[in-house]
Amino acid sequence: MTLNDELRELTRQARAWVEWLRDSGVDEHACEGDLLASLDAPQPRKRPAAPARAPQGARAPEPITPRAALPDRPATAEARQARLTVLADEVAQCTKCRLHEGRTQTVFSRGNPETELMFVGEGPGFEEDRQGLPFVGPAGQLLDKMIAAMGYARDEVYICNAVKCRPPNNRKPEPDEVAACKPYLDEQLALVDPKMIVSLGATGVQALLGTTLGITRLRGTWKTVKGRYPLMPTFHPAYLLRQPEKKREVWNDLQEVMRRMGKAPPPKRGKA
Ligand code: SF4
Repeated sequence: MTLNDELRELTRQARAWVEWLRDSGVDEHACEGDLLASLDAPQPRKRPAAPARAPQGARAPEPITPRAALPDRPATAEARQARLTVLADEVAQCTKCRLHEGRTQTVFSRGNPETELMFVGEGPGFEEDRQGLPFVGPAGQLLDKMIAAMGYARDEVYICNAVKCRPPNNRKPEPDEVAACKPYLDEQLALVDPKMIVSLGATGVQALLGTTLGITRLRGTWKTVKGRYPLMPTFHPAYLLRQPEKKREVWNDLQEVMRRMGKAPPPKRGKA
């Protein structure tokens, strides 16, 4: 083996180790950017496998939900879109929980499934149930402003809810309703495979993490979904319509997402 071959093999092992750590969600901060960027030119991403020996000083992995827990993801955008269309049709026929009784129609998603950023809310309201699209009422208009402030076009991100049918009188979905709808959310997540998730309100983050903690406790701190996806929980735009003084906290959360995404903060008012 030549010196070049040995260097290439060492690089391959280091890359596999870093990717494995990152995909396991073990230390998402330490695994980002610097080390991978210092290695050679990007290579096609393979199913991460732990190398035989860890580099000195690396932390031992903690048990965490493996990537394999997600449904398989088709290889092409066309195949993923086709599967999402079939899934939306399945949802439209769904009667797995009592929420189907009062719906006008199911509300599956809006936006671009080939995005880097996914938003997960609670459930459809009156206007969403009428139009069949999530976040199109007053709360949706506020969400659109939040998305624009982050530097994304309205339909550049993917938006869905924890439950796909409107709860009566806009009540909070019950845990059994969220659980019944969860496989659809799981598959949407696997098909979109975003870089990051922002959850809006308590139900979204509770569905994603399987926790019963409230949004006030969870908001503003990074979590990891399925051992793979960084998640920033924040308040629901509908709550902000009632409590506008909370907008500052939400903006701080969104700026944190932008920072981690490597997006520049928007210019301050009055500056070009
Ligand atoms: Fe099915 Fe979800 Fe609608 Fe319940 S909320 S009926 S699980 S699509």
